[in-house]
Amino acid sequence: MTPPKSASPRNAVPDIAALKAELRVRNRAALARAITLIESRRADHQAAARDLVQALLPHTGRAIRVGITGSPGVGKSTTIDALGMFLIERGHKVAVLAVDPSSARTGGSILGDKTRMARLAVSESAYIRPSPASGTLGGVAAKTREAMLLCEAAGFDVILVETVGIGQSETAVCDMTDFFLALMLPGAGDELQGIKKGLVELADMIAINKADGDNVKRANHAAADYRSALHILAPRSAHWQPPVMTYSALTGAGIAELWQTIVDHRSAMEASGDFAARRREQQVKWMWSMLEQRMLARLRADAGVRGKVKKIEAEVADGRVTPAIAAEQIVELLK
Ligand code: GDP
Repeated sequence: MTPPKSASPRNAVPDIAALKAELRVRNRAALARAITLIESRRADHQAAARDLVQALLPHTGRAIRVGITGSPGVGKSTTIDALGMFLIERGHKVAVLAVDPSSARTGGSILGDKTRMARLAVSESAYIRPSPASGTLGGVAAKTREAMLLCEAAGFDVILVETVGIGQSETAVCDMTDFFLALMLPGAGDELQGIKKGLVELADMIAINKADGDNVKRANHAAADYRSALHILAPRSAHWQPPVMTYSALTGAGIAELWQTIVDHRSAMEASGDFAARRREQQVKWMWSMLEQRMLARLRADAGVRGKVKKIEAEVADGRVTPAIAAEQIVELLK
């Protein structure tokens, strides 16, 4: 027997029009409920979530979206806390989201945990949401991107999306943000490693944290190394040469300059038309990424299809069918 909706408010499909109205008046509890709806695996919740995001679409897109990456310990949470408070003091509303695909395995995200950002966590003008715990990077990233749209509709005008320095998740965050900030440590011996890993090719700025006390000199050295290394790489945009700067999240020195660079980048990108082009490209890329996930979800959801896929998989493993033929057979199953 299906219980009446009111008997189970936690699991019921919420009234989308009501939720939209609450979000638009910046009701934080409604925002949390809406993001929970997006993260739900239930088919009826997912359908409702799609309707909600579509309904809110006209109210999205106006925030400055900043991706922040860096190895554990580089100072991401300290930086987000300092930058977030700097922005809130200037009248901004700041949402912090995270993409951490390891959260599904570990059962908890190391990113976006409120305790890591002590001041932001208690600010009325901030909203912090840990990484969704979904099986795949694609799933985590897609949900984070939709959560970002909800935050924008709820009036947050700066969205900070953090991720750990792992290749694929960095690309995903870069694909949902306007500005990609790579945080580095002074003299950690990894100066040129970042460049090898391809990270620096994504970055719109490299910022070397912990430039305080005895570290200042080493930070300046590291900055010089990065500058010369960046010089030989082709920049992502003809209208932006990624700068290298030093700052201290602990003392706050350089935080204002860091933000000013993000604002300057936005102006340069808007003036050149690159901003609109990047957002358009991102939208289409996300459509394809979501389509891929939906197709895979369909393969997994249908028990009959699942059985056949398992059989084909076994034939491939045994070397009886080529992967190419197997893929073709699976595509046929979707028809
Ligand atoms: P995350 O793992 O990247 O989020 O790094 P955290 O923000 O947790 O910082 C890791 C450690 O570095 C903490 O002990 C911080 O207090 C310290 N830290 C962060 N920013 C600075 C800074 O600007 N200067 C110094 N000296 N220490 C910092």
